[in-house]
Amino acid sequence: MWKRFKKWARKAAQRVWHAVQKIIRVVKEVVRRTIALLDFVASLVGIRPVKYLRLQCYLCWDQKNNPVQSRAATDQLRLAAVDIFRREANVKIIRAFNYDVVDLTNVPEDFLSLNWSCSFRDSFSAPADFFRDHAENPVSTAGHESSSGAGWVADQLGYGEAISASVVRSMPSNDGCSFPVVEDFCVVEAGAGVTTLAHELGHMCGLPHLYGHNLMDPDGARTDTNLNRLQVSVLRTSRYVTYFRTGP
Ligand SMILES: [Zn+2]
Repeated sequence: MWKRFKKWARKAAQRVWHAVQKIIRVVKEVVRRTIALLDFVASLVGIRPVKYLRLQCYLCWDQKNNPVQSRAATDQLRLAAVDIFRREANVKIIRAFNYDVVDLTNVPEDFLSLNWSCSFRDSFSAPADFFRDHAENPVSTAGHESSSGAGWVADQLGYGEAISASVVRSMPSNDGCSFPVVEDFCVVEAGAGVTTLAHELGHMCGLPHLYGHNLMDPDGARTDTNLNRLQVSVLRTSRYVTYFRTGP
C-alpha cells in the first residue's frame, strides 16, 4: 500500500514539475515577444538606444596568391556599412572576432567566380558550402578564430550571432548575394559600389528591396544610404542585432 502510494506520489510530482516547466517556457516566450514588440514600437517612434551587430569580413585570395580586390577597397565597404548602420539605425557594427578583415587564401576559382542568380537553390551549391563553413568555423590569418565566451554563446543560441561577408571576384548579374534566415553569410562582388555590403547586411537583417532613394534600392548606383522608420525597426529587431556587446 505504502509502496503504491510512493509510486503514485512520485508520478504526480513529476507531472506537476513538467507542467511548471511548460508554464515557465510560455512565460519566457511571452516576455521575449513583449520585449521585441516594445523594442519595435520604441524604434518606430524614434527611441533607439545603441545596439550591436557582429560582422566577420573575409577578403578572398585566389590560388595564384592575388586578392580579388585591395584591402583598402574592402575596408571602404566595411567602413561604409559601419557608418550607415550607425547613422541610420544607431546600430554599431563591431568585429565578431579578432580582426576587421580576414584574408581567405588559396580559394578555388569556382568559389570566386560565382554563376549565382542569388536564388534559394544557390544556397545548396558547393561555393555556398564553402562560405557556410567559414561562417560556422571562422578563421583568421593566424588559424582558427576564437570568439569571446559571450560571442560563442551568442553563436550557439542564434541570437546576436555573427554575420560573415566574403568578397568574391565576380557574379554574372548581381553585385552581392545574401540568403536571409537560411544562412548566416553573404557575398559581395569585388569592385561593387560602396554601399553594397551595407545593402546585403540589410537583407540579412530582414529588409526586402525598396525602390527610390534608399539603401535597399536594387537598381540604385549604390550610393543611397537612407532607411525609413519601418526599415530601421525591422533591422534593429533582427536576431543579429542585440543590446549585448559580445564582440572582442
Ligand atoms: Zn538586394
